[in-house]
Amino acid sequence: MSKFCTPTRREFLGSLAAVAIFPPLDSEKPELILYNGNFFTVDDRQPSAQAVAISDGRFLAIGSNSEVLNLASAGVKKIDLGGKTVLPGFIDAHCHPAISGLDMVVAVNCDLPSLAAIQAALRERAAKTPAGQWVYGSKYDDTKGAEGRMLTRADLDAAVPDHPVVVMHRGGHTNFYNSAAFRLAGVDEKTPDPPGGKFDRDAATGKFTGRVADQARTLMEKNAPDLATRENRAEGVKLISRAMARAGITSVGDALGTPDDLRAYQDARDGGELWFRVYCLIAQPHLDKMIAAGMRTGLGDEFVRVGACKIFADGSISERTARLSKAYQGSPDYFGLLMMGEEEQYEKTKQAHLAGWQIGTHANGDVAIDQTLRVYERLQKESPRRDPRFRLEHCTMVNEGLLARIKALGAIPAPFSSYVYYHGEKMHFYGQERLKNMFALRSMIDAGIRPTQASDYTASPYEPMMALQSEVTRTDTKGTVWGANQRITVQEAIRVGTMNGAYASFEDKIKGSITAGKLADLVVLGRDPLREPPSSLVTIPVERTMLGGRWSFES
Ligand SMILES: [Zn+2]
Repeated sequence: MSKFCTPTRREFLGSLAAVAIFPPLDSEKPELILYNGNFFTVDDRQPSAQAVAISDGRFLAIGSNSEVLNLASAGVKKIDLGGKTVLPGFIDAHCHPAISGLDMVVAVNCDLPSLAAIQAALRERAAKTPAGQWVYGSKYDDTKGAEGRMLTRADLDAAVPDHPVVVMHRGGHTNFYNSAAFRLAGVDEKTPDPPGGKFDRDAATGKFTGRVADQARTLMEKNAPDLATRENRAEGVKLISRAMARAGITSVGDALGTPDDLRAYQDARDGGELWFRVYCLIAQPHLDKMIAAGMRTGLGDEFVRVGACKIFADGSISERTARLSKAYQGSPDYFGLLMMGEEEQYEKTKQAHLAGWQIGTHANGDVAIDQTLRVYERLQKESPRRDPRFRLEHCTMVNEGLLARIKALGAIPAPFSSYVYYHGEKMHFYGQERLKNMFALRSMIDAGIRPTQASDYTASPYEPMMALQSEVTRTDTKGTVWGANQRITVQEAIRVGTMNGAYASFEDKIKGSITAGKLADLVVLGRDPLREPPSSLVTIPVERTMLGGRWSFES
């Protein structure tokens, strides 16, 4: 087969069967040629190339320098890549851009090296905040502070006595409040824990520590003003999409979107400031109104699309609330939390499934994954749908039996991609033995499953180069190896971060590889990851990112 691949008009349209808008016929002349590159295409029919021609936001031809340059007519723009490595744009299948973008606009960044530094930052913000108004902090991580202990209500009271304060953990399941926030919410030590939530209490005194988990947080913030204005949300999307483009990301799955987020993505796009494509998973509580409006998964276009319905089965890995079959290390009676019983999960999932939605269920622990698979299996038996692509968000702790069922269902896990590298200090809660079956990419790929890359940002950083290093080395920043049996190759990690992400959103026909007819989304790297020592993949610079034939980032 010729390495040179200019599709005929018929093949070109055929490859775009899933796309609503067809390019006009006169667009088949290239507008832009990138040549003298080292293209790793993630397309098995043509794994490597030197040059691509681009027209109307799509790849028109892929081949050698001479083959592609021969297509150049007058006026075509040509860019010499100087031998640089080019990959398809990265797809972060599960992250939280809209909410983290809003955070960038309204909250204090608490990703700081010590509690003292966090206190200083909150104090500074409080000084500029009108009396009685909330002070927000985000991206706090209890395992990373110099003091080696968790943030407390007393710490927050010392920093900010008057304003209500909430500091959100970067894992997304626990918040930390000061006394003023408890007073404002009317929550005191007599308040019982609500279902699916918890007010942490000091073991000796019974007093609140300030840490509040999951559903209990709604009680705390019922009186908080809404800083999530339309303007702030749109501004947040602009900021985060620009930041992610700098890292080489061209598509994201927003894993907990709302109608407000959909509007923010559209607002940013209308303002010419949406720098990635977004597949917006919709939080289950919003489903009724979306179904009533006639919406379902797939509505939208190549930039903003309605994604799966998002349902929660259990808690988080970084905050030790994932529901495990074997107790946490050092806590013999503690197994984590399920967010709902199986029947409730079944009813919610069924509503979405029958309305034609893809489902993405947050399931970290093996117990939660088992329950979720039972729900999926039951639905496929009762009301089978062709190719439902059920998703398992995180799918952290697996075993052979679970993997066989995932494969049989054709379900798609979205495991944390940078967890091992970035969160090494949390691994002792799980232990070496258990790590052999966590974030289990090797086992998934060997079982014929198509896992995605997923930073879960803000839970972990979103840089795809960090994901590659984490997945390839299974080594943390201190050099400790966790679950070496789950290592994959760089080539596999790139496919996980590109094609598999496109598959998870039913967009594998239009993106995920450098293939004629697909969207011209790519990243130009400073060094070649296939030649880089695995331990320095994270240091490879991203030089340029292209989104639909236009640079979304240039260094
Ligand atoms: Zn998430």
